[in-house]
Amino acid sequence: MRHRAGDLDRIVIAGAGRAAVAAVEELHRLGFTGAVTVLGGEEHPPYHRPACSKGLLTGRQRPADAHLASTAPARWLPGRVAVELDSARQVVYTHTGEAFEYDGLIVATGAKPVIPDGWPVGEPGLYTLHDVEDALALGAALREARRVAVVGAGFTGSEAACVVSSLARECVIIDSNAQVMTRAVGAVTGGLVADSMRREGVRMRLGRRVRVVSRSRRGWRLDLDDGSHVDADVVISALGERPDTGWFTVPGADTSDGLLCDESLRVLGTKRIVAAGAVARWPNPWYGDAPGRCDQWIAALEQGQAAARTLLAGHRPAPAAPVQPRYWSDLFGLRIQVCGRLDGADDIEVTELRPGRRDVARGGMVAVHLRDGVARGVVAVNAPRQFTTLAREMRAAGPLARPRVSLPAQTSQQRRLSLVG
Ligand SMILES: Cc1cc2nc3c(=O)[nH]c(=O)nc-3n(C[C@H](O)[C@H](O)[C@H](O)COP(=O)(O)OP(=O)(O)OC[C@H]3O[C@@H](n4cnc5c(N)ncnc54)[C@H](O)[C@@H]3O)c2cc1C
Repeated sequence: MRHRAGDLDRIVIAGAGRAAVAAVEELHRLGFTGAVTVLGGEEHPPYHRPACSKGLLTGRQRPADAHLASTAPARWLPGRVAVELDSARQVVYTHTGEAFEYDGLIVATGAKPVIPDGWPVGEPGLYTLHDVEDALALGAALREARRVAVVGAGFTGSEAACVVSSLARECVIIDSNAQVMTRAVGAVTGGLVADSMRREGVRMRLGRRVRVVSRSRRGWRLDLDDGSHVDADVVISALGERPDTGWFTVPGADTSDGLLCDESLRVLGTKRIVAAGAVARWPNPWYGDAPGRCDQWIAALEQGQAAARTLLAGHRPAPAAPVQPRYWSDLFGLRIQVCGRLDGADDIEVTELRPGRRDVARGGMVAVHLRDGVARGVVAVNAPRQFTTLAREMRAAGPLARPRVSLPAQTSQQRRLSLVG
C-alpha cells in the first residue's frame, strides 16, 4: 500500500505509548511515506509501562532498560500534551502553544489513574503508580517506609504489594472485593492467589472500602467502612484507570468512556480520526458484543497496528480489529497468565497440577471459564505449558467462533474441581 502525497501526507499521533509505537511501525511496514509526528505527553521516550509496577519499582530496572525502541521513521516529540483539537481545520494544539496540522489523526493517549474525590495525591507519602516518575518516587519512598497500605487489589495494587513485601515492609492491601484481582483473574483464582499472598506476609482487608484518607501525626490514617482504621507511612492508590479525553472536543463524538469507535477503530462522529489502546472503546469483533475498552499491553499493540491500517484505508472499508485479551503478572514467584474474557457468571473448572499442596496456586493450577459449556477464558498460575496449549486452541478458534477447548489431560498428579457460577 503506497500513499500519494496530498491524500494522506501528515499523520499526527497523540500519545507515545504502546499503541502509538505499534501504529508508527505498522505505518512504515505498509509503506506510508508521509510525515508521522508523535506527541508524547511525558518527558520520557516511549517505555514498557508494565515495568512501573515490577522492575522499575524494585530498582532492578532503570528507565533506559524499559525503553520501547522503534526504528520506523517518525518525529518523536516528548513533552507535548494535546490540549485542544480543531477537527474542522484538522489541527491539534499542545500545551506548549504549538499547532500540528494533520490529514489523519491517531489518538493513543491511554488512561490515567482514578483518584477518589478529596484524596490529596501528590502530598508526601500518598502515591499513584502509573508512570516512570511514579515508580521512581514510590520506590524511593518505600526504602524509608515501615508500614505501607495499598488501596486496590487489582493487578497494579497486587504487584505493588508484592514489591513492598519483598522489601520486608509491613504491607496491608485493602479492596472492596472479597478476593484479589477479581476482575482480572476471576474470584476463584483470585482467592487462591490471595492465600499465597497471605503466606508471604501481606495482610488483607478484603471486602472493605476506604471511607476517608487523612494525615495524622504518625503518617496517614485510612478509615474503613467497618469503623476500623489502618495507619501507614506510605499509601499507594491503585484504584484503576480511566481515559482523560477532555481535550477531544468534537461535536457528535462520544467521549463518555474513552472514544467510541466502530469495529475498525474509526472514532464515530469524526473524519480521519482513529483511536487505539486504552483510550479506544469499540465493539470488539472477537466477541461481537457491546463496545468496551481493553486496557492491556498486547491489546494496545494490536489496536495500534489495526488503527494504522484503518487510517490508511481512508474512506474505503477497513478490516475489523478483533482482539483476544491476553495478559500476565508475576507475583511472589507466581506466574499468572490469562487469555480470553472472564465473567462473574462463568462456570469454572479448576485443575490443580499438584493436588494436596497447601498453596494450590504455587503448585500450579489452570482455571477454565465456561459459559453454556463453551470455554471463554483460561487463567493459569505456574502452569505455562498448559496455558500455552489452551490459549493456542482458543486463539485458533478465531473471531466470533465458539472455541471448544480441550482441558489438559487429567493425570494422577492432577485433581479437577468444578464450580458452577
Ligand atoms: C503500573 C502498570 C502496570 C501494568 N502492567 C501490565 C501488565 O503486566 N500486563 C498488561 O497487559 N498490561 C499492563 N498494564 C497496562 C498497560 O500498560 C496498558 O494497557 C498499555 O500501556 C496501554 O497502552 P496505550 O498505548 O493505550 O497507553 P499508554 O501506554 O499509557 O500510553 C499513552 C501515552 O499517552 C500520553 N498522553 C496522555 N494524554 C495525552 C495527551 N493529551 N497528549 C499527549 N500525550 C498524552 C501518556 O502520558 C502516555 O505516555 C499496566 C499498567 C500500569 C499503569
